[in-house]
Amino acid sequence: MNEQTGVRKNYDVLIIGAGPGGCSCALALRKTGLKVALIDKSEFPRDKVCGELMHRKAVETLTSIVPEFEQEFKQFPKTLVLKHTRIHYKGKSMVFDWVNESYTCPRLELDNFLLSMVKAKSDTDVYTATPPDKITVDDNGVTVTIKNSDTVFTGKMIIGADGANSTVAKQLTVKVLDRKHYLGAVRAYYSNVKNTDDVTSEVFFNSKFGLNYLWVFPTQGHISNVGFGLLSSDISEKRINLKDAFYDYFKQSPELTEKFADAEQISPLEGFGVPLGSSIGTVSGNRFMLLGDAASLSNPLSGTGMGNAVLSGKITADQIIKTFMQNDFSETFMKQYDAELQRAIVDGLMSSYKAQRTLSKLPFILDLVFILAKNKRIKKYIQSIV
Ligand SMILES: Cc1cc2nc3c(=O)[nH]c(=O)nc-3n(C[C@H](O)[C@H](O)[C@H](O)COP(=O)(O)OP(=O)(O)OC[C@H]3O[C@@H](n4cnc5c(N)ncnc54)[C@H](O)[C@@H]3O)c2cc1C
Repeated sequence: MNEQTGVRKNYDVLIIGAGPGGCSCALALRKTGLKVALIDKSEFPRDKVCGELMHRKAVETLTSIVPEFEQEFKQFPKTLVLKHTRIHYKGKSMVFDWVNESYTCPRLELDNFLLSMVKAKSDTDVYTATPPDKITVDDNGVTVTIKNSDTVFTGKMIIGADGANSTVAKQLTVKVLDRKHYLGAVRAYYSNVKNTDDVTSEVFFNSKFGLNYLWVFPTQGHISNVGFGLLSSDISEKRINLKDAFYDYFKQSPELTEKFADAEQISPLEGFGVPLGSSIGTVSGNRFMLLGDAASLSNPLSGTGMGNAVLSGKITADQIIKTFMQNDFSETFMKQYDAELQRAIVDGLMSSYKAQRTLSKLPFILDLVFILAKNKRIKKYIQSIV
């Protein structure tokens, strides 16, 4: 590159996207001696539309990477530790006491907390407000240009951790949106929701909407994160307006009408996509890997994805280390990543997908589940697939 026309920044690894998945990958590479750049299009702190319920798995994975993570996260003033989930269905309700506690933390705060940890505990160079433009991969390496900038990043490999609308996936794979494996979801924050506490998440099923549920998750300051998602294929085939369906859900449910009688919506209702792990497509190739939502790893039954984003970040880092040790960046060598992802994440998601399909074809099973879940072993199984 001509020195007068731009800045060239050279790295071993370019991670695109600093959400939970990208931060997990950067942290897992912290003691490897590799030169890593973490590049995000947004300025931080930035919000991400989400239910903000973080499964134990995410915290365990991050703690296996940074041993002090759990302690610091629990002390973080924005974190709530959840102990129960209350499920409402046809006027009845049942409480699940979680075998392992889960957490909520607003994404505005959580993602900034994770990025601060990357800055404090690793030598990763962090570039926010840096939107990638063109990504080129050839035998010599990877080149990324930046929109409205002369800066060019080069690396020996690139990691797509840039979420549901991943530009890395769009530019390096043939990505086709399969609406049967994609959720459209919306959420808003509410205050003054009745009968809530800081340790219980709640979900409301309504037989009119089949398997889909409306969630009410507690966040700090007695604010509730309230949301709802539907398969994109249903949205387009049945011409559903998701935002109207969200408000309709309240009208159709006397329990919700009562619960929200004095509530105030304190943020706009915002939507975002959730790529489900029931169909993952290409996740690696010559000099690249995809992780988290960029690799479509959200749970087909519950729609949660942070746990798998963080775990796939760690698996990606393990593969990066092997790749540099062998000096083999080929598509064939990267298939080891596909295999490990399949074993550690995708096989489990298939059980969730089967449960999702069965329940949507035979919705009366939900009544049965409600009865059977009184059994401890069945309850435990249900907890393992959501
Ligand atoms: C309404 C809704 C509710 C949800 N509720 C939950 C829940 O309660 N629990 C749960 O576990 N999961 C939930 N999910 C799923 C969860 O949000 C995702 O699975 C998770 O955020 C994926 O993490 P990630 O790091 O892969 O991607 P993201 O969190 O999406 O992070 C991607 C990062 O990449 C950046 N980026 C995007 N495009 C580019 C680009 N072109 N160039 C550079 N950077 C880019 C973004 O700024 C962002 O920082 C929900 C999703 C939705 C939509």
